Amino acid sequence: MAKYSPAINQLITQLATLPGIGQKSAQRLAFHILGLPGEKAEALAQSIIDAKKQTSFCSSCFNLTDQDPCVICSDQKRDKHVICVVENPSDVAAMERTREYHGRYHVLHGAISPMNNIGPESIRLKELLSRLQRESDVSEVILANNATVEGEATALYIAKLLKPAGIRTTRIAHGIPMGSNLEFTDELTLSRALSGRTEI
Ligand code: ZN
Repeated sequence: MAKYSPAINQLITQLATLPGIGQKSAQRLAFHILGLPGEKAEALAQSIIDAKKQTSFCSSCFNLTDQDPCVICSDQKRDKHVICVVENPSDVAAMERTREYHGRYHVLHGAISPMNNIGPESIRLKELLSRLQRESDVSEVILANNATVEGEATALYIAKLLKPAGIRTTRIAHGIPMGSNLEFTDELTLSRALSGRTEI
């Protein structure tokens, strides 16, 4: 790394901890921030402090929220019979954008990954199980874990745990992205799309 003052180095180091930001991008961002007028740079720093202070996890679904329970959990119009399990708060936002889902959520905050030493106890799985014991009107759990090796493994693990409870457990279908051609689709996606086919 080039020689900068300790304060600039500290800023670059902090920015480089953000997802998707490498050393080069961190340096670019740091110099952009340092080029801002004082009040703009302060507003940026203050917005991080404010958002962090005012945001916590919903004690029921573990989504990010500024009120507890969150707006989704406390909305009486949401379907109390369905819980959609996702990995991250950003997945809740993605599901909400579809406007197709009217149930509630449970955010796991990760996926089981033995390779990275992330076991079932490292994600909010215990909390899901105790929630299902508490909320007896839940009749379906939709597993919307990511379509990655870890996401698939986590979904299977949860499905096995829920089987004895007699709750209907479903997995979202994974298929071919809209606008793409079969010939450019990898075998795993294509085989999942085939096994998840539906009548039209
Ligand atoms: Zn909630």
